[in-house]
Amino acid sequence: MPEKTKITSAWQTALTQLDNVAKIMMLTEDVHQLLRNFERILTVSIPIRMDNGSLRVFNGFRVQHNSARGPYKGGVRYHPELTLDDLKALAMEMTWKCSLVGVPFGGAKGGIICNSKTLSKGELERLTRRYTYAIMPIIGIGKDIPAPDVNTNEQIMAWMMDTYSMNNGYCTPGIVTGKPVNIGGSLGRTDATGLGITFTIANAIKSKKMNFKGLKVVIQGYGNVGSTVGKLLSEMGCKIVAVSSSKGGVYNPKGLNHNALMKYYKEHGSFENFPNAESITNASLLELPCDVLVPAAMGNQVTKENADKIRARLIVEGANGPITPEADQILKERKIPVIPDILANAGGVIVSYFEWVQDVQCYFWCEHEVNAKLNNILDRSYEEVFQLSQEKKTNLRTAAMILAVKKVVDAIQVRGLYP
Ligand code: GLU
Repeated sequence: MPEKTKITSAWQTALTQLDNVAKIMMLTEDVHQLLRNFERILTVSIPIRMDNGSLRVFNGFRVQHNSARGPYKGGVRYHPELTLDDLKALAMEMTWKCSLVGVPFGGAKGGIICNSKTLSKGELERLTRRYTYAIMPIIGIGKDIPAPDVNTNEQIMAWMMDTYSMNNGYCTPGIVTGKPVNIGGSLGRTDATGLGITFTIANAIKSKKMNFKGLKVVIQGYGNVGSTVGKLLSEMGCKIVAVSSSKGGVYNPKGLNHNALMKYYKEHGSFENFPNAESITNASLLELPCDVLVPAAMGNQVTKENADKIRARLIVEGANGPITPEADQILKERKIPVIPDILANAGGVIVSYFEWVQDVQCYFWCEHEVNAKLNNILDRSYEEVFQLSQEKKTNLRTAAMILAVKKVVDAIQVRGLYP
């Protein structure tokens, strides 16, 4: 049976979420054990010649959780505090995310322990290429398809695609998603996660009979995902009252201007001293009064320590795993609805799937087609999750997990056990 361990890491959070639904779904012990384990974990060392001539060895990983529903899929994260446990949680979450929204992939995640902000462009390129080379035996168009995640971007995907293609002997665009459009990327991929979050917020607003106009929104993490949400929600008449970067945030209850925020961040590398706004920490930002709180930075931000201080009417998980299970329970008791990560931020992997389909077919779609298909999938997924949560009188996370785990279990069962 699952061990009773104190929740200390993202991995424990992921296991607890699985164990909770396993109980509700009355999963057999066999299947439960399979899902708690990984199909493959690869640890690699990545030696790099630094610009000053010295040699530095970085550590990297690729974690493949489950491929019952299709090839592994998931991003690559560069972070100084990255751990294998984080990647295990994130890989498992990719299995659920792909399953929930019905894209035919399993779950994986990779990453390198590094502070990419202190590396030169050349060092970053060498690091990326050597990492790609190191994980080459286990990735492939029909095997495992990496994508961007925290601190990785389309340039890094271009280097990955090029390294794989050079070694493969021919151009292989479908090996990664989130590439630049001129080498096989999909239109709409860059904004897909943020756009998907916005579609999901729109569905939640509709089901709660709230109105977009004047809605006060707090966004933790105004990077690629958070700032797209801020831009789109501002255009729809919401008031973005607080935003942050890893260095801290700014707050103005009357609203902040999205374009001014972007310009200021580009010039200063932080929001510190942004005019007409109060400086706040990332922790106090979470506790501001607002209608919608979007934690779009890192995991484990809302915990049992601050869950009872949250003053949002709705929380939308832009990041992966920003709420611990204990905090989730407190929010449930306080009747603050949470749109779970595997639904809210699935836009990224959905458009990654579209990109992969376009690469494989060598036939590319216009942005309108991409966004319309994304909207369809997210509307349908929201409806399924919402209906099941009503039916089972449970929260959206549990409903989403039940739907996701069920499809993976069905695939495992129909495929059977090899040999
Ligand atoms: N890193 C993103 C996520 O966590 C996207 C993954 C992908 O596109 O494969 O969902």
